[in-house]
Amino acid sequence: MGRSELNFNLEVQGMKAVCPLGEVIGAKMIAENKIPVISCEGGCFRGEIARMAAHLVGKQEPFMRGCHGEMFTAPTSAMTDWAKKAEKVVVIDGCFMKCHGRVMINIIGKENMIQFDALRIYNKGNKYTDIMLYDEVSEEERKQLAQQVADKVLSELST
Ligand code: SF4
Repeated sequence: MGRSELNFNLEVQGMKAVCPLGEVIGAKMIAENKIPVISCEGGCFRGEIARMAAHLVGKQEPFMRGCHGEMFTAPTSAMTDWAKKAEKVVVIDGCFMKCHGRVMINIIGKENMIQFDALRIYNKGNKYTDIMLYDEVSEEERKQLAQQVADKVLSELST
């Protein structure tokens, strides 16, 4: 398949509805000055580790887990407002493709985003390069890898 560095647009079907819970949480997070943490949540093993790591980072002050779905597709929602008003948005992507960072950067701007490639943090010796499905690795090992990513992210965010 071909490769291209050209930017492209993705049309999203509009809708009036917003998530009622997202409205409450988004407004609360703005009021509490929390920093949103999102992850790519890709369906493969890499996305799974990024998702788990984002949960762990989101538990630490001043961070909180955000909903990337609403941030990307509901521009008038409180969740998106939170992403735009936050001092920074932390994006943990599953691999070098940086899928969610490449979207988020166009919503909040490069200077407001801190992006991580989770695979780069834990894939020493290319041990996990060919893993596709999340359950090809034991739950215990997945937890250890996610913790490793979360620790690295938190350490870099604290400097
Ligand atoms: S960043 Fe990697 S793991 Fe995440 S959705 Fe993109 S290709 Fe999948």
